[in-house]
This record gives sequence, structure tokens and C-alpha cells, in this order.
Amino acid sequence: MDKPSIKNDNEVLVEVIRVGACGTDREINNGEYGVAPEGFDFLVLGHENFGRIVEVGKNVKDLQKGDFVVATVRRPCGTSIYDQIGQQDFTTDSEYYERGISRIHGYWAEFYVENKEFLIKIPPAIKEVAVLLEPLSIIEKGLKQAEDIQKRLDIWKPKTAAVLGTGNVGLLTILALRLRGFEVHGFGLDLPEGYLNAELCEAIGATYNSTRELSVTNSAEKYGEYDLIFECTGYSPIIFEAMQTLDENGILILASVTGGDRKTDGVPSDLINQEFVLGNRVMVGTVNANREHFEMGVKDIALAEAMYSGWLARMMTHKIEGLENYAQAFDVLNNGSKYKAIKTYFAVKDF
Ligand code: BGC
Repeated sequence: MDKPSIKNDNEVLVEVIRVGACGTDREINNGEYGVAPEGFDFLVLGHENFGRIVEVGKNVKDLQKGDFVVATVRRPCGTSIYDQIGQQDFTTDSEYYERGISRIHGYWAEFYVENKEFLIKIPPAIKEVAVLLEPLSIIEKGLKQAEDIQKRLDIWKPKTAAVLGTGNVGLLTILALRLRGFEVHGFGLDLPEGYLNAELCEAIGATYNSTRELSVTNSAEKYGEYDLIFECTGYSPIIFEAMQTLDENGILILASVTGGDRKTDGVPSDLINQEFVLGNRVMVGTVNANREHFEMGVKDIALAEAMYSGWLARMMTHKIEGLENYAQAFDVLNNGSKYKAIKTYFAVKDF
């Protein structure tokens, strides 16, 4: 690709310093997801990003050369009302536009150009871990949905939460909930002994539970029913267990994009339905994130660094030097459990 350049006064040229790699990149690379931009037979990957401004257009006042930034992912290129009011994360169009995922090239590049509207300024003090902001923004949006929906209750003072999945998204969710004062119970497949993800849960005061030893359904007998459950395993059958462990008025947030065709038998649907009705329970799906969720994430990263110094850096287990070593990144992504990887990312340039 040629080096991009600024084409209008609202644009900014950014040099990429760090980019993350995740399950979505793996699926796109395996041809299971993603769409190339019009006129191209390939897609530049990458949506988790962190970089430094090299040049700004004339209309850009609040950002300047040398500032660190993270760019959001989805663009309002659709026709729905949500695209028109700047809430493209709620688009009702079936074709959506996301950098590095769908119809727009991404950030696995040395440089990119972006409109100032989609750039979030990053305090230099959190530069080492700011590539985690994009995945965190997804969680911030989910938690904001819960808060907004629960305004239906004049008082909602949630205390306990279960987080299903303790990969990189699960761990960030556990962190965000601990920062909000929740008692948090994390659930993963692996046994806890010698498992870094379990150690990270416990390091910030959450429990780690292997579903090989304690099922989500049975966990309610141990910990009580949950006020909030956040699902990020990618394993859809678990949502029916989660639905049975939600407390009255509680909320279940679904955040896994499950691309497969798995079906679940033996779901006690009468029981689940009755509990949802009689207990005013809620289940909500959430995708992507808008500027406000990235901004919430910046604050949470700063607070996390203050409260649990060094914890986020411990999540960043697999650093790939240079984009040219992309094959290594896919090897790690395709064999996550062999490598015990939590976050795989590229170092593209020095800070
Ligand atoms: C990205 C989101 C995106 C979603 C669906 C996730 O991996 O983090 O920004 O909306 O995939 O494409």
C-alpha cells in the first residue's frame, strides 16, 4: 500500500505504534468473516490500534503533532437513522463499515489517515497499554447499556457479577467490574493451577472458576444469583446456563459474535421463560463502541494503572516484532491454548 496522505482539512495522519490481534482477525484471515473494501480483493486487517500523530489538517484544533491517539472502528457510512445521528454502533443496516473488519482497510499498517472525529486522545502515562483500549471499549459499551436499561428501576445497586470467559475480553470485563466495586466471579475452561488468567483474576480480588469443576448453573448455589452477567466466551450454549443464574431484576449482557451454527438441545425453556417474566429479568446484546465508550475506557485504564499497577501489562503476553512477522501472530491466534496467549499484539514502531 502507498503511504496515505491527508486529503481534507479535518483529517489527521497517524503513525502506528502498536496494533492488537484478536479472534476477529483470526476469523477474517481464515475467510470466515469480514468484507474487503469496494474495488479491492483484499482487506488490510487490524482494528485494535495505538499510534502517534504526524500531521494534522487545518481544521484540527484539539489534536496536534506528537499526540498519542486510538481510533474508533465503525464509521457512519450506512443509511440508517443511527448512522446519521452519529450512533453507527447501533446501525440497523445489515452492511456495516468497520476499519480492518468490514469494507474499510484497517490499522495493520505503518500509517493511516482518519477524520479527527474518530480519534481519541491518549494520555502519555498509559501509552504502554493503550492498545487494549479498543477491546475495552466493547465492554464499556456493554456496561453502559446495562446502566441505561436498569434506569427502569428507581434504585439498582448491583453487587455481584459473573463474567463468562477469561480470555482477553473476559479479563478486561473483570477489571472494569472490579473498578466499579462489584464482587466478581470469572469462569473459564482451564483448571486454575499454573494458569495466568486465573492468577490475574485473583490478583484484583475476583474469583476464578473452571467450568470443569463448577458449572455456571451450580455456581449460583455457592455465590448466590448474580445481579449482572457478562458473556464473552464465544460458546453460545452457556447463555442458557447464565439465564438460570440471574437474580430478580438482573441483567445478562451478550457480547460474543458466534459465527458458527451450533444448536443447543435440552434447554429448560419453560423454566427460563417463567423466571424471566416473574423476575423482570433482562438479556441484551451489544456490539462495537462509540466515542463515549472509548472515553470511558481511557479513564478506566488510568484508574486500573493507579489501582493495580502493572496488571494490564501482564495481560499483553505475546509481542510480535514488526508487521512482517504476521505469520507468527496467526500461529499464536490459531493455537491460543498451546501458547497460553492472552493478548497478541504487534510492535510496529517505538514509542
Ligand atoms: C470488534 C468490534 C466490531 C465487532 C463486529 C469486534 O472484534 O472489536 O469493533 O464491531 O468485532 O465486527
